[in-house]
Amino acid sequence: MLNIDLHCHSNISDGILTPAAVAARAKANGVDVWALTDHDEVGGIAEARAAAQALDLQFVTGVEISITWANHTIHIVGLKIDETNQTLLEGLAATRGGRERRARDMAAQLAAIGIPDAFEGALKHVGNPDLISRTHFARHLVEIGRCADTHEVFRHYLTEGKPGYVPHRWASLTQAVNWIRGAGGIAVVAHPGRYSLSDVAFGAFFDEFKQLGGKAIEVNTGSHSPDQYVEYAKVAATYGFLASRGSDFHSPGESRVDLGALPPLPDSVVPVWHDWALKAQS
Ligand code: AMP
Ligand code: MN
Ligand code: MN
Ligand code: MN
Repeated sequence: MLNIDLHCHSNISDGILTPAAVAARAKANGVDVWALTDHDEVGGIAEARAAAQALDLQFVTGVEISITWANHTIHIVGLKIDETNQTLLEGLAATRGGRERRARDMAAQLAAIGIPDAFEGALKHVGNPDLISRTHFARHLVEIGRCADTHEVFRHYLTEGKPGYVPHRWASLTQAVNWIRGAGGIAVVAHPGRYSLSDVAFGAFFDEFKQLGGKAIEVNTGSHSPDQYVEYAKVAATYGFLASRGSDFHSPGESRVDLGALPPLPDSVVPVWHDWALKAQS
């Protein structure tokens, strides 16, 4: 069976490794088919593709788009996109556009509780100045000894209701799915178990996603517990969604699940790659 990992990050968004280093780690971990899915950015794809080719690693283009739906932040992964599609590129640029303003507001709020210069501090961890994220603030606060790890930073400073949190309006669900489909790609709901939606809201969200042409949800992801693999396999069956598998790897020290390390998808689901032309691994 092929080891397929369709969700991870490089330093072009909030991962730590370069796209080529992520490719090398995927290969070393036994991944056969790999997608790089940086947040709101396809700038790492050329390097990732070239590195994968050199390693004989089958490469799938990807992106993870931040959206706001009913005041919730949700992530939509696009797979097999044409990363040169102009409408997609413009949409991603617009989605990234508000990040610097938001980061400056976050830094001002942190300064007000006695943590000065967090913008400059976060910037030191940024690989792509266009993409400053909460993760970079988290790494800075760990570095200056405010917290033991990035998860603690998120819990105490960077999530809703905490002093460094700044609400943000991302792309709409319609935009994200249209950009992905317009670029020839497949839209996938990332880590559905991570959102705090009621059952009713989830139903409405999945219905709308499907009606827009969304095709799949992540079932096995580094953000789900094993119980949630079972739970979201059932959701996939209920809505007729294909299922995806992706570690959501960000860095060796921070990620719970390494590249290629998740268990295989449950037998009951249809994998998102069911009709892809993949080479059997020799
Ligand atoms: P942003 O797009 O700037 O809002 O940052 C979102 C990113 O923060 C996610 O993609 C994760 O990498 C990271 N993140 C969110 N929540 C947590 C958490 N509780 N612990 C660690 N990282 C988190
Ligand atoms: Mn991230
Ligand atoms: Mn995500
Ligand atoms: Mn991710």
